Amino acid sequence: MAEPVSSLGTRLRRGPLGAAGGRVDLARAERAVGELLSALGVDGGRGALAGTPARVARMYAELLAPGPFTPTTFPNEGEGDLVVVRDIAFASLCEHHLLPFSGIAHVGYLPGERIVGLSKIARAVEWCSRRLQVQERLTAEIADWMEGTLAPRGVGVVLRATHLCMTVRGVRQPGATTTTTAFRGALAGNVERRGEFLAEVA
Ligand code: ZN
Repeated sequence: MAEPVSSLGTRLRRGPLGAAGGRVDLARAERAVGELLSALGVDGGRGALAGTPARVARMYAELLAPGPFTPTTFPNEGEGDLVVVRDIAFASLCEHHLLPFSGIAHVGYLPGERIVGLSKIARAVEWCSRRLQVQERLTAEIADWMEGTLAPRGVGVVLRATHLCMTVRGVRQPGATTTTTAFRGALAGNVERRGEFLAEVA
């Protein structure tokens, strides 16, 4: 990764305003969706489709704007054994086709000095998902968020997802799932620790 983890953590915590880091212009997006429909030979401005450009614009704005998220962390008073939150449902948008990919995330960490509320880990997954993504980068960004926020001794992230761009177009492989992993610290370097995490999420 070209960017140091600490700076990435800071950038992720600050959060982009939209997918391109700019302000969302709903009226312009609505016009663009209308134009797209016209270019595809669909009259999007009439009848049942009258409200479609505005709805699509709002939908993309929602999917691409992660919103503010600054979780509170707490001092770790325990032994620091492996913490795993599994089966976190997520949905994101493929940056190549603007089609959703969705599935489940498993996130584990070996606490260092700080811990975080478990629901905040699910929020972090959602927050990293709300932008144009590829699954590999989303997996890495969740791991980097954990590292940048908690400075844990290790992080493991596993994502399993189905991509609409694979199931409804192109190779048309319904049911095909993609698994991606990211490991940091002790979970990257210590085979036994990593095995412990993978057994938890199997
Ligand atoms: Zn795609």
